[in-house]
Amino acid sequence: MYGQLVSVYEYPQAALLVLGGSTVAAVGIGLLYGREKRIWCRYLCPASGVFAVLAKIAPLHYKVDRAAWDRHTGSFEPVNCAPLVDVRRMTSASECHACGRCAGQRDAVALSIRSPAAEVLDAGTPARTPDALTLAYGVLGVATAAFQWTVSPWFQRIKMALAEWLVEHEHFALLDNDVPWWLLTHYPEASDLFTWLDGALILAYLLGGGFLLGSLLLAGPAIASRLAAERQLSWQRFTLALTPLAAASVILGLSMLTVTHLKAEHLWLGWLPGLRIALLGAGCLGSLMLVAGLLRQSAGSRSRKLVAGLAMVWPVALMAAIWTLVFFVW
Ligand code: SF4
Repeated sequence: MYGQLVSVYEYPQAALLVLGGSTVAAVGIGLLYGREKRIWCRYLCPASGVFAVLAKIAPLHYKVDRAAWDRHTGSFEPVNCAPLVDVRRMTSASECHACGRCAGQRDAVALSIRSPAAEVLDAGTPARTPDALTLAYGVLGVATAAFQWTVSPWFQRIKMALAEWLVEHEHFALLDNDVPWWLLTHYPEASDLFTWLDGALILAYLLGGGFLLGSLLLAGPAIASRLAAERQLSWQRFTLALTPLAAASVILGLSMLTVTHLKAEHLWLGWLPGLRIALLGAGCLGSLMLVAGLLRQSAGSRSRKLVAGLAMVWPVALMAAIWTLVFFVW
């Protein structure tokens, strides 16, 4: 959100501040408290939660054979896992950085190929509430709002209406744009100046829009889990079934700026709409396949499963509709 306020993707000094600042903070934390561990990555990095969710559908992971681990009696060097993973009990790829240090440990750990659906569908791997909330409110909620506020006519309309109201009532303080560049975008030479109103509206759009979108999306998993009526088919697990869609959404959003640069270079981008549709379609399809896999684990009646499946079509359709608006309507 801070990056959006200072236009981190457009100006070098903003990028230096946001990315360089967090790099310096990570190095500082490492020097002070690290002791050969990645404290920053594990507990403080804002992006770790996003990667932890997306890693759940990674086709490669470090697989731990718990029985082989326990059987092993020979001598071995204890592994120094930098992100502090309990390797023996590791069932999820989320926290693992795939550094390979534990490969071969006790003849029980190996880099392995798996189905991208394996972790979400495996009832033995916990589906945690923080992961589900990060996915719904963070990756699909706030991040989507952050990707589209610049092209959103809703944002512009609200801004114009508020600005007119402020002028009519002679409240000019919020329309002031004399703000330092490290707080709000301020580049007079590029005629790019955010007012306090811009800053407040961006925050409100990202937080309010992200919360609203996340809550609307969660209605699907909440209903589906009630109808599936199985302990392991929790709303958290149904939410994690939206991971492929979240991955597609992040790639589509992050590549928007790349596309702007390619357009500025006058490159031929006739292939772009097709690629975007294919990526979004793959995300939607992947999520629906995970939902079908989860519902197969339910012992409920066919009609209940059908309604649960339809409930999960809702978040998928909502995200598809939002990206369709961004790319093909606005
Ligand atoms: S691969 Fe590296 S990060 Fe992952 S569990 Fe093993 S030591 Fe830890």
